[in-house]
Amino acid sequence: MELTYSRPCTLCPRACGVNRSAGERGFCRAGTTAHIARAGLHFGEEPPISGTRGSGTIFFCGCTLRCPFCQNHRISRDADAGQAVDAVELAELMLQLQAQGAHNINLVTATHYLPTVLAALDRAKPQLRIPVVYNCGGYESTETVAALTDYVDVWLPDLKYGTADAALRRGAPADYPERALGAIAAMVEQTGAPVFDADGMLRRGVIVRHLVLPGGRRDSAAALAALAARVDPAMIRLSLMRQYTPPSALTLPPPLNRRLTSFEYDTALAAAAPFVGYMQSADSADERFVPVWDRG
Ligand code: SF4
Repeated sequence: MELTYSRPCTLCPRACGVNRSAGERGFCRAGTTAHIARAGLHFGEEPPISGTRGSGTIFFCGCTLRCPFCQNHRISRDADAGQAVDAVELAELMLQLQAQGAHNINLVTATHYLPTVLAALDRAKPQLRIPVVYNCGGYESTETVAALTDYVDVWLPDLKYGTADAALRRGAPADYPERALGAIAAMVEQTGAPVFDADGMLRRGVIVRHLVLPGGRRDSAAALAALAARVDPAMIRLSLMRQYTPPSALTLPPPLNRRLTSFEYDTALAAAAPFVGYMQSADSADERFVPVWDRG
């Protein structure tokens, strides 16, 4: 797979086919200059990602999914928001985050800027002593996962939906489950089972995130069943998230206009029986899951 902006774009499964170098823009609306919303130490990720010193997180603007309820809609819907960076500047940012003590370099929603990201990693990776984390919405092509083989140490994909029906109801492409599950299987094949260092930090492996949505407990059960059917649960960690908050700037239809109930989250937690990992819950305890109390 040739990673350039100047061929028909297939960086993500939408395969818009636009020539971004010629000024054309596809679904993500990204051009050829990467834009970032923020770069800094982030303490709200899972414990083996944030640790005590924080994750060196770089948030890219724009998104190939643009979920209607996105908590980061201001940056996900505007690929030109934030600060423009070229590969040299991006590499420098990575090295600065390492110098600040980051446990890892955490690239958030980077796929639509992959040619720039890989050029930056070509410069920075030889000097990085910390893992590179690829934090994404799960809607990835297996070709993109393969292209990142020598660059990414830890994959942090979402699995948002397990059925085409659930994906369509939430404004995602019908092929989201098939693509995300295929990508996650490829990620697991690439990294093998999770490897932690002596401090419990993840050096290599896959953490799959699933955000339980209001009204979506059956969808969550279907997604988790699909995940367990596709990859060996022992080969990953699951992060079961309950942080959904309706963005105040968006007018969303019920049930997306409310928070999750404990019943909904606990139902999803019960469906996560095959997995171990991390959970966000103020009310329940489960010995398979490490509580994550604060994910900002
Ligand atoms: S990265 Fe953007 S332009 Fe390219 S295929 Fe995906 S949505 Fe389309």
